[in-house]
Amino acid sequence: MLLGVIADDFTGATDIASMLAKNGMRTVQTVGVPTGDEAPAADAVVVALKSRTIPAADAVAQSLAALDWLLAQGARQIVFKYCSTFDSTDAGNIGPVGEALLDRLGGIAVVCPAFPATKRTIYRGYLFVGDVLLSESSMKDHPLTPMTDPSLVRVMARQVRDPGTVGLVGCETVQQGAMAIKAALDRLQAEGKRFAVVDAVADADLRAIGAAIADAPLLTGGSGIAMGLPDNFRRIGALAEGGTATLEVPEGRSAVLAGSCSAATRGQVAAVAGRWPTIRLDPQELAAGQQSAEAVLRWAGEQDPGSPILIYSTAEPDAVRAAQDALGRDRAAAVLEEAFAAVAAGLVAAGVRRMVVAGGETAGAVVGALGIDQLAIGPEIDPGVPWVQANGAEGLCLALKSGNFGTEDFFTKAFARLA
Ligand code: ADP
Repeated sequence: MLLGVIADDFTGATDIASMLAKNGMRTVQTVGVPTGDEAPAADAVVVALKSRTIPAADAVAQSLAALDWLLAQGARQIVFKYCSTFDSTDAGNIGPVGEALLDRLGGIAVVCPAFPATKRTIYRGYLFVGDVLLSESSMKDHPLTPMTDPSLVRVMARQVRDPGTVGLVGCETVQQGAMAIKAALDRLQAEGKRFAVVDAVADADLRAIGAAIADAPLLTGGSGIAMGLPDNFRRIGALAEGGTATLEVPEGRSAVLAGSCSAATRGQVAAVAGRWPTIRLDPQELAAGQQSAEAVLRWAGEQDPGSPILIYSTAEPDAVRAAQDALGRDRAAAVLEEAFAAVAAGLVAAGVRRMVVAGGETAGAVVGALGIDQLAIGPEIDPGVPWVQANGAEGLCLALKSGNFGTEDFFTKAFARLA
């Protein structure tokens, strides 16, 4: 293993894993810290934690456990991956986790969540989302991590032990290239800084920063910061020229499970509903026992094996509200998630080997039910959503799509991408 990544949530982990795979590293994502001692056959391993909004002390403990495991497997460099909108509060968890990792690893760590492809840019240490400052974007109203200060230097300074240990490498330096960036980082470190927010407004900036930190034991940021890292390993002969990530896809049937009600998923469901064998899960019918996972599986067994099947609970906001009024929000979600979990397990037992799952919570329920703890990263379908392959579960290939991701023809495109 060359590169170890500690990610603070599941879809964020997939995002950076896909970036590394696209740039030619064989990449595996683990669900939580692996318990075994066996290193996956991969150049990069991304440990997906769920530590973004838990108490800071727990986030630190989990991240250090991930670090210990990655170092034991031989990781030469560690990335701490968080969201490109720097999702955190003054209590953490980016500062405390970054600081705990740095206490172990030493050096100065860049802080660079920029991801120009999704319009996250940093200028003079201020984070922009599209054309507005972070604090003017919808992130200001986030239910768990409202971002009201756009200055990453200030935000980070509030989260670390000594506010004076956070510095800035501005764009005028970044644009001079890797040597200048490295010199600036060395200077900041000599002044006692431990973290350096680094400006980046374009992919070229991220690649220059990547080259400048080839020898840094720790770096922190979004998926963008990973862009330049594979080339560092290539330059020293540790990584071969990259091909595109491929998976050995087992023979079997294809299914879509859609539990997201987000706008993008509603469009994606409408695009194939009725064209493929289709069945709708209804939370009230499930709760009343008029529908069941067993019945859905019987139905699935009767469909043409040559066509993907679509099983969805996706509904318009009015229908979601009606179900929530009748059952309560948590119960409506729980009966559906349980049903999707049971259906997913039954489908795999019945020979389904390619499965698209739409919805973050829904995907979590499915991965949990299938007992999957490692995923090899394959080809990308849409930005940030690759095909992945489970280590167990009969080599099941999965596309785990957060609700609002992907174009309208995502489901068709996904299966075509594996063909
Ligand atoms: P997204 O990624 O779009 O947020 P999630 O799967 O994370 O999708 O969340 C959608 C939630 O809504 C899940 O908990 C799911 O069980 C619930 N849900 C799905 N369909 C319905 C429905 N028809 N009525 C009520 N709740 C639903």
